[in-house]
Amino acid sequence: MRYWLSIVVATPAHSSVAGPLTYRSECPLPPGSLVRVPLGKREVLGVVWEALPDSGDLPESQSRAVLGALDGLAPLSATWRRLVGFTASYYQRSIGEVALAALPPQLRELSTVQLARRLKRPVAPAPDAPVTTDLIALSAEQERAIAEFDADTRPALLFGATGSGKTEVYLRAAAKVLASDTSAQVLVMVPEINLTPQLQARFEERFAHLGKAQVVSMHSGLTPAQRLKSWLAAHAGQARLVLGTRMAIFASLPNLRLIVVDEEHDPSYKQQEGARYSARDLAVYRAMLESARSQAGDSEGAEAFPLPAGAAEPALPGRRRSAPPGGSAVREATSVGACRVLLGSATPSLESWQATVVGRYQRLTMSERIGGAEQQGSLPAVRLVDMNHQPKHCTIAPPLLDAIAQRIARGEQSLIFLNRRGYAPVLACHDCGWKSECPHCSAFRVFHKIDRTLRCHHCGFTERVPRACPACGNIDIAPVGKGTERLEEHIAELLAGDHPVRRPDGSPLRIARIDADTTRLKGALESQLASVHAREVDVLVGTQMIAKGHDFRHITLVAAINPDGALFSSDFRAPERLFGLLMQAAGRAGRDADHGEASEMWVQTFHPQHPLFAALKKHDYPAFAAQELKEREAAGMSPFGFSALVRAEARDQAVAQGFLNAAAAAAQTQQLPGMEAVTPYPAVPMTIQRVANIERAQMLVESPSRAALQRFLAAWQPLLHQTRQQGDFKSLVRWAIDVDPLAI
Ligand code: ADP
Ligand code: ZN
Ligand code: ZN
Repeated sequence: MRYWLSIVVATPAHSSVAGPLTYRSECPLPPGSLVRVPLGKREVLGVVWEALPDSGDLPESQSRAVLGALDGLAPLSATWRRLVGFTASYYQRSIGEVALAALPPQLRELSTVQLARRLKRPVAPAPDAPVTTDLIALSAEQERAIAEFDADTRPALLFGATGSGKTEVYLRAAAKVLASDTSAQVLVMVPEINLTPQLQARFEERFAHLGKAQVVSMHSGLTPAQRLKSWLAAHAGQARLVLGTRMAIFASLPNLRLIVVDEEHDPSYKQQEGARYSARDLAVYRAMLESARSQAGDSEGAEAFPLPAGAAEPALPGRRRSAPPGGSAVREATSVGACRVLLGSATPSLESWQATVVGRYQRLTMSERIGGAEQQGSLPAVRLVDMNHQPKHCTIAPPLLDAIAQRIARGEQSLIFLNRRGYAPVLACHDCGWKSECPHCSAFRVFHKIDRTLRCHHCGFTERVPRACPACGNIDIAPVGKGTERLEEHIAELLAGDHPVRRPDGSPLRIARIDADTTRLKGALESQLASVHAREVDVLVGTQMIAKGHDFRHITLVAAINPDGALFSSDFRAPERLFGLLMQAAGRAGRDADHGEASEMWVQTFHPQHPLFAALKKHDYPAFAAQELKEREAAGMSPFGFSALVRAEARDQAVAQGFLNAAAAAAQTQQLPGMEAVTPYPAVPMTIQRVANIERAQMLVESPSRAALQRFLAAWQPLLHQTRQQGDFKSLVRWAIDVDPLAI
C-alpha cells in the first residue's frame, strides 16, 4: 500500500518551498506524526500535516519517500497543529518554520535510536509527599478573585496591585485544575528567565506531592538536553505543570486546562524575530482552541490547514470575538475539559484592559497589598520633583539626596533607576564638536569607564577610548550625560561629601549596580540580588532590570532619575510602558508591611503637570488607562485599530524605502483584497536608521479591521516576494512583516 502525505519541514522564510511538501510512505502515518524526510541532500525532521488522497500531479518517479517515523512519540495533537497553523497564517510566516521552531532543537539531531533510548528512561515516580494542606489563609480579595474566576468562562484578567498576592491566586487556580483531573496540565508563563527560578521554587514546593518530575520549565536558558527532557515530559502528559517563557506557548500539552500569563503586559512576550508572535495573545487563542477540542472531541485530521486567510476572522484580542474553525460554541464551554486563561498584571496592556471594559474578558480586581488593608495607603507615596526648580544640571535633586541619606542612616535601602547603562551615552570634544559616533550605525557609542571603551549598543563595535580627540587632537574630551555607571559613581561622591553618610552602626555605606553590564556572567545577577536581600547594600543603582518582579523586602525608597523621554516619544506605546515601569518600580518599595507607611517613590521630571504623573500619584491605573484609551480611540490606534510594519534592510536607504514603496504601489494597482479598508503609509527610515552598516526602513500599514488587514497581508506577501526580484531590489538584505508590532 502507498500513502501520500503532506509534510511540513523547516523552510527558510522566503524560499520557494514555503508550504507543506508531498512525500510517500509505505505505511499510514497519522497527522501530527514526527518523521525524518529527505530535503535536497539533507535528512530533516518533519511533521505530517495531513494525509492526501493521492499524489496530486506529482509523478510517482519524482516523489520522495519518508525515511522513518520517530516511533514511540505520539502524534502532535490536532489542536497543536491548529495553533501552529493559525500562528503561521496570522503572523505571515510558513507553517514549517513555525512548527519546527516550536519543537526542541535536539529532536532534530537525535537519531531514532538515540530517541528511543531517551524515551525508555524511567520517569521518577511521584513521591508520597502529602498534598500541602497548611496553606496560608487567603485574603478577602484573593478569595473573591478565585470565586469569580471559577464562576466564569471568559479569558480572565487579574488586575492586582504589586504585592496583592497574585501568585497565590495562580497557585490555587492551578491546584484546583490539577486536583480535578489526574491528567490535567497547566501552563504558567513568565516574561523573563530570571524570574523562573523563584516562581519555579514556589510551584515545586506547593506541588511537591506531584514530584519534581511533574513540574518542568521551558526557556532558552536550559541546555538542549534539558529542553528536550521537559518537552518530552510535557508531550507525554507526565509533566503536569509547565513553567516557561514565551516559547512555552507552543509546548505540546495533550491535556492543557489552564494557562496563566504572569505580567501579561510585558513586551518580552512578543517574539522579535522569525514569526513575530505574541505569546500572550496566543495564550488566549490557544485556550479557546483547547476548549473547542474538549467540546468537539479531538478528531484527528478533520480540519484543513492552513486556515484559509480571512476565512475566519482571527480571534486574537481585538474588537470582536469569533469562533475558531470547528468550534462554534466556545463561550458555552464550561464542561469538564475546557481550558481557561488567566492573565495577570498590576498594569495590564491597554489591549487586555479594553477587552475587560467591553466584557470580552473577565476582570478580577485586587487593589490592596497583602497586610496593607489596615494601614491605609501602604503603596508608597509618590513624590514628584520639579526639576525646573532645582539647581541647573543637577542629576540628583538635593531633596532626593537628602531622603536617600536618611534612609541609609536608618538602615533602609534605596533603589535608583535610570534607563541607560554605561558611564555616559556620548563622549564629546568641546573644541571641535566631535562626538563618539559609531562608524557603522546612526548612533553614538557609549562610554564605559570601567574598561575605558567606547561601545556601540547596537552593533557591538568596541574601541579603546582615544587619548585625544580623533578629529582635532584636543586632549580634553569629556563624557556628556549619565548612564548607570556614572550615576553610581556620582551618588557615591555626593554621599561621601562634607558630612559622609554612615550606616546606623557607623560603617561606610555600600552602593551596588545591577544592569546588563554587571550581570553578564552566569550567576552574577543571583549573587548581586542575594547581597541586596542580605542588606549588604544600601543603595542599588540600575536599569529597568531591577524594577521588575524582584521581591525586595527592605527597600523604602525608589527613585526614577530621568523618565521624561517617554512622555514625548514618537512611539504611541511609550507612555504605557513608562507608566507600567514606574508602577512596577513603586511596587518594589515598602513590600515589608513594617515599612509600608514610610516608603516613597520619587520621580524627577521637568513636566510635573503631565496627566501620566497625576495618575501615578494616585496609583490609579484605571484613570491612566481611560485617558490613554480615549486618545487611542480618537487616533484609531490599538486596540481600536490594527497595524503591521513591514521592515526592509539594504546597503542603501533608497533601495530599502524604494522596495517598500514599490510593493505598496503594486498592491494599489492590483487592488488587493482588503485594500479598501487598509492604509499603507509611505516608507520611512527607522529611528535608528543604520545598524552595522545596514540601512533600515519601515512601512506602517493600518486598518480599522483586523480581518481586512489579514486579507490584505496574505495577498500582499507574494507581491512583496515578486517586487524583491526586480532590478535594484535584488540587493535587499532582508525584509519581514511584523503584525501587531509593539514598537513603532
Ligand atoms: P504580586 O505577585 O501580586 O505582586 P505576591 O504574589 O508576590 O504579589 O505576594 C506578595 C507577598 O504576599 C508574597 O510574599 C506572598 O507570599 C504573600 N502572600 C500572598 N498571599 C498571602 C496571604 N493570603 N496571606 C499572607 N501572605 C500572603
Ligand atoms: Zn576635537
Ligand atoms: Zn554600531
